[in-house]
Amino acid sequence: MDFWNLLFPENIKCIICNDELPCDNDFCLCEDCVKHLPFMPSDNICLKCGAPTKSGNYCLHCKQAGRHFEKHRSVFAYSGEIINTIQNFKYSNAKYLAPYLGNLLVDKFKKEGWVVDMVIPVPLHEMREKERGYNQSLMLSRQFEKIALEINTTALVRTKYLTQQAILTGKERLTNLKQSFKVVNKKEIKGKTILLIDDIFTTGNTINACASTLRKGGAKEVYALTICKTLLDELI
Ligand SMILES: [Zn+2]
Ligand SMILES: [Zn+2]
Repeated sequence: MDFWNLLFPENIKCIICNDELPCDNDFCLCEDCVKHLPFMPSDNICLKCGAPTKSGNYCLHCKQAGRHFEKHRSVFAYSGEIINTIQNFKYSNAKYLAPYLGNLLVDKFKKEGWVVDMVIPVPLHEMREKERGYNQSLMLSRQFEKIALEINTTALVRTKYLTQQAILTGKERLTNLKQSFKVVNKKEIKGKTILLIDDIFTTGNTINACASTLRKGGAKEVYALTICKTLLDELI
């Protein structure tokens, strides 16, 4: 914040409840929202995907499904007030949220202590990006430049436009998704440890498809961070 802003602070509002904040902060969250937001726990979680679990080191999904990423963590559970914020960011052009949500990702990344070579935002198909006008995952990733991490948008591309996903069966959707990503520049990721960034982790199929494609393309390891994780039936 520069001197002018100290004298005449901008109208800074909490990104969740719109309450005015006394001054700018990295996350633009008021104390009250910080207290009530569904931050993901760091204990009693699946070591792979970060879901709360009481049944051991891995949740049922990670036990059953082949996971091609080392670890995934989310900042929040996808519930309560954060849903609106994410929906606005993703579908209602609320691009101003990107730096604040991105800072939450950087904060989580630092807490996890992962060491990576580069950040890759989950790509959108170019037609989808044209429709939306932006790739929300790339916008979230931009904050990692502040901690001197390279953002790579050229190695991994999305080759399928998934409008017809809804008419496919579960198994077909998965196959379709697996074939949706392609490494077009293997040199850039060879032997690298990669951090994937996306907004929401639901079943993990998208992150998993990206991780699998990157590993096959020569990446050493893949980690993943998202803003929200949908809580399925892990609490068993
Ligand atoms: Zn608030
Ligand atoms: Zn898991």
